[in-house]
Amino acid sequence: MTYKKITLRRGKEESLKRFHPWVFSGAIASADDTIEEGDLVSVFASDGTHMGNGHFQVGSIMVRVLAWGDTAIDDAFYRERLEQAWRVRQALGLMRDDNNSFRLVHGEGDFLPGLVIDVYGSTAVVQAHSPGMHFARKSIAQALVELPCGMIKNVYYKSETTLPYKAHLDPENQYLIGEFDTDVAVENGLKFHVDWLRGQKTGFFVDQRENRALLERYSAGRRVLNMFCYTGGFSFYAMRGKARLVHSVDSSGKAVSLTERNVELNYPGDDRHKAFAQDAFDFLDNIEPDAYDLIILDPPAFAKHKSALKNALVGYRRLNAKALSKIQSGGVLFTFSCSQAVSKEQFRLAVFSAAAQSRRKVRILHQLTQPADHPINIYHPEGEYLKGLVLWVE
Ligand code: SAH
Repeated sequence: MTYKKITLRRGKEESLKRFHPWVFSGAIASADDTIEEGDLVSVFASDGTHMGNGHFQVGSIMVRVLAWGDTAIDDAFYRERLEQAWRVRQALGLMRDDNNSFRLVHGEGDFLPGLVIDVYGSTAVVQAHSPGMHFARKSIAQALVELPCGMIKNVYYKSETTLPYKAHLDPENQYLIGEFDTDVAVENGLKFHVDWLRGQKTGFFVDQRENRALLERYSAGRRVLNMFCYTGGFSFYAMRGKARLVHSVDSSGKAVSLTERNVELNYPGDDRHKAFAQDAFDFLDNIEPDAYDLIILDPPAFAKHKSALKNALVGYRRLNAKALSKIQSGGVLFTFSCSQAVSKEQFRLAVFSAAAQSRRKVRILHQLTQPADHPINIYHPEGEYLKGLVLWVE
């Protein structure tokens, strides 16, 4: 297979030499006239050195390098990368009778920029974030069902909202292999429905698995408020942890009914749980002080891009200040940011300001992050996105 050719400006190969997989538009000196969205390209330094092969995309990141040197990107390539990803999850012990949901491919973190795959039992949900991965979807699907474990039978492709709109790819959400089997998955022994057809992202946030397990340990006897509950993950862990009551809040009515369904699946008829379709900021304004002694704040990314950073930090400060001002003394606050554009330090500073504003005595008990099935490629620090703090509030 011949790849189209891209030549870099002098000195612009430095980041590739350090294995960072992105080529920005400003680094490119010349490109074949015929290059189109999603093409396989070979990237050359100005002295003619073949740096690597990758996917071309119109935009600020123009090439996502998948393989260094002249390694081919073909069916065997995808098979090998997916097997490597699989081996890590196997080592992590994520495939058990009481746990069958995890992230199998985390983009750059698994050396597959532009690709995300979450597994729910026998179904893999694939999201392409680049046109190149869209074109490779059939090879990827085939490699998934051929993984040596034989666990994956169905591959659902869900990229209508993740691919660049301007590329006019018109991707259809559909099963590439297999069919609907069950929509109930298991995480640490707790069951949940995954709505990969209509839900956000791949249908469930598998990245909070370990943080939910930690929350369970703090739940006994507490009155828990799970803000931004989405499918209610933190809520049913709190119930298993013997919380006195659990209130779940989300502005989306659909999320609230998903939470109610999932709580019912694990704890049918348990009247400790109530869900509210309300704006989180309004809800916090209207609760009585001391009504809760364990609060979870897991909002959507306030900053999707660097340009929104300042407003995002104000948002995190306001939200945390509201929760800190209301939580009962001796309470525990689990607070998160999943904005990639917000650094650990910036988030901590926003929470620090919120604490100072509320004039509470606050200690950091845990500093949380994304789980190991969302690995960070050491050459691509941008892959670190989830940050959390567990605070003890007097
Ligand atoms: N904690 C969840 C994931 C949260 S995703 C989990 O463990 O799975 C973020 C959620 O915040 C979404 O469900 C979205 O509907 C909700 N949301 C966004 N803005 C909101 C607001 N202003 N008030 C309440 N919920 C909001």
